[in-house]
Amino acid sequence: MNIHEYQAKALLRSYGCPVSDGRIVLKAEDAKTAAGELDGPLWVVKAQIHAGGRGKGSFKEAEAGEKGGVRLAKSVEEASEMAKQMLGKTLVTHQTGPAGKQVNRIYIEDGSDIDRELYLALLVDRQTSRVSFVCSTEGGMDIEEVAANTPDNILSFSVDPATGFQPFHGRRIAFMLGLTGKQVKQMVDLTSKLYKAFVEKDMEMLEINPLIVMPDGMLKCLDAKVGFDGNAIYRQSDIAELRDTTEEDPKELEASKYDLNYIALDGEIGCMVNGAGLAMATMDIIKLYGAEPANFLDVGGGATKEKVTEAFKIITSDPNVKGILVNIFGGIMRCDVIAEGVIAAVKEVGLKVPLVVRLEGTNVEQGKAIINNSDVDVIAADDLSDGAQKIVKAVKG
Ligand code: GDP
Ligand code: MG
Repeated sequence: MNIHEYQAKALLRSYGCPVSDGRIVLKAEDAKTAAGELDGPLWVVKAQIHAGGRGKGSFKEAEAGEKGGVRLAKSVEEASEMAKQMLGKTLVTHQTGPAGKQVNRIYIEDGSDIDRELYLALLVDRQTSRVSFVCSTEGGMDIEEVAANTPDNILSFSVDPATGFQPFHGRRIAFMLGLTGKQVKQMVDLTSKLYKAFVEKDMEMLEINPLIVMPDGMLKCLDAKVGFDGNAIYRQSDIAELRDTTEEDPKELEASKYDLNYIALDGEIGCMVNGAGLAMATMDIIKLYGAEPANFLDVGGGATKEKVTEAFKIITSDPNVKGILVNIFGGIMRCDVIAEGVIAAVKEVGLKVPLVVRLEGTNVEQGKAIINNSDVDVIAADDLSDGAQKIVKAVKG
């Protein structure tokens, strides 16, 4: 689960990390009051969307002006004018995809003077199964780009969970970033607080880009991107409240209500599968036969007829779906239940695209009979390979 920059900064502030003072604006008429509460002489007006690269992004609507989603203002009036321009408009960055994201919240911040822009992040490193720090002297840039072009400018290491964070971790980062004197102590303090926040709040990623050095030598977190482990949200009720569902894919949101593991993808073949491994294999084989999956969907081991119906509705609501492949191995899940669910769903939402069904396992004969005896136009498949070939052929001819 992701949160907005202003929410992440409030969280970091509560851990004692240095961030600027700021105000969130939801309605254009509140922008002037919000900006007026900050000292100036510089204001930063920042579009709040769950995507990075806002500064270099651009708006779809001409009324939003030519500048990106992070703008510097020299007066309260200018700041509130910028906030008004951006609210409700669609911001496109390299992370939003071409459709962009609507800006519903604006964060107005006290502007900072910048000497240097650095990069600092914490993440869960799957290779070492530990929390890792990543830092770079190239702040304000995409870390992927830095990694590709100048990998020597990046330092990354993991923290042993048995010892937890130690001051030498922070010193190592400080020296790599060329910090000296009091800044080293500041960095040790900051990294220890970030590590504490990361572990206590079950974060998956915490990215400060840029972390700045100000002319007075002090450090400050100028941007903050935080993602949390969705499987731990149940024990982070304060974090759960920060969820902004308008930032999420409506299909994924609907799926989460029914406890379906669904991820929207860009392809044309909708998939309904039980078991994550089988779902992955199904996506692979669709690709092998020359098409692309429109989604990952694991209906789970104990899916009911209702769950299958909902899953089907979610798949068919995607206009990119040109065909559907149902691939079920009945273990705990019985094939007849799936078959009933599929038939019920088709009757409820209608079927405008080809549907291939492959059933195997518990009660497979009953399942096949239910499908064959229905008046629904289903293409039956014998195995995974047959199913994939049939749906690709039905869609691509
Ligand atoms: P992003 O583009 O979505 O990553 O948004 P950021 O919050 O990182 O802002 C983008 C860039 O705007 C930063 O890298 C800075 O160069 C600039 N910026 C952001 N806040 C300030 C500020 O307070 N003062 C100044 N001078 N520049 C800022
Ligand atoms: Mg940034």
